[in-house]
Amino acid sequence: MKISFVGTGYVGLVSGTCFAEMGVITTCVDIDQNKIDGLKNGIMPIWEPGLENLVKRNYEKKRLSFTTNLEESINGAEACFIAVGTPPDEDGSADLKYVLDVAAEIGRTMQNYLVVITKSTVPIGTAEKVRETISAELKKRNSDIPFDVASNPEFLKEGDAISDCLHPDRIVVGTDSERAKEIINRLYKPFVLNGHPIIFMDIPSAELTKYAANAMLATKISFMNDIANFCEKVGADINYVRKGIGTDKRIGPYFIYAGTGYGGSCFPKDVKAIIKTADANDYSLEILKAVENVNDRQKSTLFNKLYKYFDGNLKDRKIVLWGLSFKPNTDDMREAPALVIIEMLLNAGANVYAYDPVAMHEAKRILGNTINYVKDPYDAIDNADALLLVTEWTEFRVLNYPRLASMKNKVIFDGRNIYEPFEVRDRGFKYFGIGRN
Ligand code: NAD
Repeated sequence: MKISFVGTGYVGLVSGTCFAEMGVITTCVDIDQNKIDGLKNGIMPIWEPGLENLVKRNYEKKRLSFTTNLEESINGAEACFIAVGTPPDEDGSADLKYVLDVAAEIGRTMQNYLVVITKSTVPIGTAEKVRETISAELKKRNSDIPFDVASNPEFLKEGDAISDCLHPDRIVVGTDSERAKEIINRLYKPFVLNGHPIIFMDIPSAELTKYAANAMLATKISFMNDIANFCEKVGADINYVRKGIGTDKRIGPYFIYAGTGYGGSCFPKDVKAIIKTADANDYSLEILKAVENVNDRQKSTLFNKLYKYFDGNLKDRKIVLWGLSFKPNTDDMREAPALVIIEMLLNAGANVYAYDPVAMHEAKRILGNTINYVKDPYDAIDNADALLLVTEWTEFRVLNYPRLASMKNKVIFDGRNIYEPFEVRDRGFKYFGIGRN
């Protein structure tokens, strides 16, 4: 079986490689020549645990190849997955330019039957637009090569992407074609030998499922952040409240951690996009509008605590910030809360010293020399005015108190509630968490 994956980013590269791992002959396509050249030389464009070995192994076995030539990749293939970016456009709705560019190129170059599967997160109606775009190009060629469209949203999480992809909770597929269904079923069978389901449905339902899933997860986070802020007003501790409610099976223990707000390349844009799609359909998604507002507010919570602690005087203070990526185990800094916090610190005149285990190169690309970068979390601790924990990488979990002893002001702002306030205070430090007194 041969397939093509167009867009070799976090989703396309990981999913394409996982299909190759299952024995499917997979070609990953990208318009970025540097990315493709790098991959052919074993250089990963993203940091994802376990990815490099998997890519190298499948590339060497010739089950996985890389190209900038889409036509070559779909020639003789049964399926083509579109996994390009769908960033928000100016008004917050998903920009379909990249998806439809790919659809047009497929229509211009396809030579055999294909099922064209949108894996990118796209608003309802996109698969139809893909179908229309391909049909229009085929018409220009006077060609009647048959094809089908399908929607197959991706649910992997950066940081656990390989495991999520190889062992998915479920596969969601929207299609109106038996032929497409048979091909997709055959493709995904090796991924669901554990008994997890492939859920077939109509195309609009599949497209909406992805947004509904991300919107639900974002809601859980904003809900907990809202309750955490309330905890501070009434002398409660969100960690106890979390444990108290998370043990209720109807609620569950996952995704109910208070923090500095959600970020990343998906939740912010997907929540915005579903709100926009609903507005355009004369429906106001009130809960999600509140979810967004709570999240915007939450991103400045840690900074506000610091600002208050220093009575608004942050000028020339040395602030050490741990964790830059939007969550641990990724170098992705898209919409990372750290970026908002850094901007506020710089505007207040503070000197920022930042450390992240893998996102330093990405931070340098985005922030340039506006902040200082350190090679070790403790490198900038001497004379520091405050330590801010923003992303909960495991290496930050146990504090090295002797090395923190040279701080000028012994104060820690824990944006992820990973430290035990009593322990930190026993060691002579002031402690501020989120939703804890
Ligand atoms: P990304 O930015 O990492 O990768 C997109 C890639 O597409 C880039 O390498 C870009 O060069 C390439 N591209 C753009 N136009 C192209 C074209 N015409 N032909 C070939 N390649 C082209 O994006 P991503 O994070 O992988 O996300 C892709 C989609 O998947 C988005 O819709 C996103 O919302 C969705 N998604 C992302 C995640 C995630 O965790 N990142 C999870 C689930 C779903």
